[in-house]
Amino acid sequence: MLNPNILARTAINKTGNLLLSPPIGGFGHFRNHGPRTQRKIALTFDDGPSRPCTEELVAVMDEMNVKGTFFCVGFNVGVHPDLTRRMFDTGHVIGNHSQFHRRSGSLKPGGDGQHIDESERVIREVIGCRPRLYRPPWGWLTPWEAARLAQRGYTIIGWDVYTIDWQMPEPDGLQVAKKAIKDTQPGSILLFHDGLAMQTNWSKKETTRAIRHMIPALRAQGYEFVTVPELLGIPAYDLG
Ligand SMILES: [Zn+2]
Repeated sequence: MLNPNILARTAINKTGNLLLSPPIGGFGHFRNHGPRTQRKIALTFDDGPSRPCTEELVAVMDEMNVKGTFFCVGFNVGVHPDLTRRMFDTGHVIGNHSQFHRRSGSLKPGGDGQHIDESERVIREVIGCRPRLYRPPWGWLTPWEAARLAQRGYTIIGWDVYTIDWQMPEPDGLQVAKKAIKDTQPGSILLFHDGLAMQTNWSKKETTRAIRHMIPALRAQGYEFVTVPELLGIPAYDLG
């Protein structure tokens, strides 16, 4: 017999994803892609940094001369400050993905935005400047969370190419790459994961494999890889 609790949770998640997540949710507050007129695209990674996953992924991207945009969990940044700093120093963009990767921060109409500010503080301590890009955990964005982020000067980044690389066990990297390549169009923002929420040590070989496969394949189609701020023509940080 089907478990009513699981059914209820599935229904809530599906409704939440539809109303609150990209590509159609979020009440118009997400930037889901760049201009459709240029073959420029951005790779984004959520839920890190973690070891060895982020380290292996960044090594492959550096070797292929592609810079990514990483939406980092503040807690993980606190555990891996050296890795975060190295990514920042080598041109990868560090964005905010909340302090503890909880949905409740976005869903609560009241509240003080501590989940945003705490992560911002940790990131700022490590890289020396304030991030201006935010992606909400689970991609769940409410109008009141959007207002809190706007007040703080954040641009809220979604995606238009969704991958299932977050699933466990890890789906085959080549299949993930194949689907992402098919879905990519000029201006696309692609969603991947370089960790699992609140795991600071994690192995994720298939995402790295997918990226290694995709970069040359999309370049052969004339695509250029840029960071999200480059794609959208917006600043990545407050330098003051
Ligand atoms: Zn996430």
